[in-house]
Amino acid sequence: LSDPLPEALQRHRVPFDGRFNVHELSSDPPSDTPPKKELEDELDDLVDELDELQRRLFADERFAVLAVFQAMDAAGKDSTIRKVFSGVNPAGFRVHAFGRPSELELRHDFLARVAQRLPERGRIGIFNRSHYEEVLVVRVHPQFLTAQHLPDVDPARVWDERFESIRNFEQHLARNGTAVVKFWLDISPDEQRKRFIDRIEEADKNWKFRLGDLDDRSRWDDYQVAYQEALAATSRPWAPWYAIPANDKRYMRVAVARIMVATLRALDPRFPAVGDEQRRELQEGLARLQAENGGG
Ligand code: ADP
Repeated sequence: LSDPLPEALQRHRVPFDGRFNVHELSSDPPSDTPPKKELEDELDDLVDELDELQRRLFADERFAVLAVFQAMDAAGKDSTIRKVFSGVNPAGFRVHAFGRPSELELRHDFLARVAQRLPERGRIGIFNRSHYEEVLVVRVHPQFLTAQHLPDVDPARVWDERFESIRNFEQHLARNGTAVVKFWLDISPDEQRKRFIDRIEEADKNWKFRLGDLDDRSRWDDYQVAYQEALAATSRPWAPWYAIPANDKRYMRVAVARIMVATLRALDPRFPAVGDEQRRELQEGLARLQAENGGG
């Protein structure tokens, strides 16, 4: 089998020229998907490599990585994050989940709360939902926009203006050393229905079900339009979107892990070179420790 990593950065990537049609996508895994066992082995390897790359990222001190996850309910954001980052040093990454904004958050501009949660150099930051809710749920349910008390909202322009703000924000991050990579876990309505029914029928999953989730489900087509426009407008070389088929969790996780590994590899983080001064300190340290031993 050919190495899937080099092409992982192209496959599923939302084009940068705005030509993106959600109706051309499939939520099912591609036909060349390896069998279950191979996918599991590959994920194990990728999880290990991600840990190694994060250690370099930390030592290198130049870059941060921000991974954004967006999806309809039950697409598997949480379990994907859990599995893909399961091998990374817990000190090396931080997950933040963005729910409904608080009263105070609503008094700030719509990027303020994400700006406070960005990863510092050396770290991987994961956003479970993100500023994109501001052009997704807020677009589908305009009462959320009303609650923001914005001056002069022009409904014909507000979403394009937000896309522009987001593009500029992410480009600013990229210029300052944060690699931004964004995942839309693209589940089909049939698969979501199955998973909701599982949540109702399986006692261990009951806690995940909220009747309110069906309201968003009933707005499926509006969400598709919102996703299409948001992804087309904000997938750019400095902050690409990937539309990952989400009906098969194993494939989805491997696809996300491949892209994370390929993104980090492309940054080429390195352990810092040992300079003359440090070499002298290493030698002196060794000499002193050996002398201790000799002094017995
Ligand atoms: P999840 O569904 O991700 O497991 P929750 O059950 O806490 O997490 O749901 C978070 C809810 O908050 C979602 O319905 C999401 O659409 C909503 N939300 C997130 N950001 C915003 C926002 N900026 N404005 C309004 N609602 C938001």
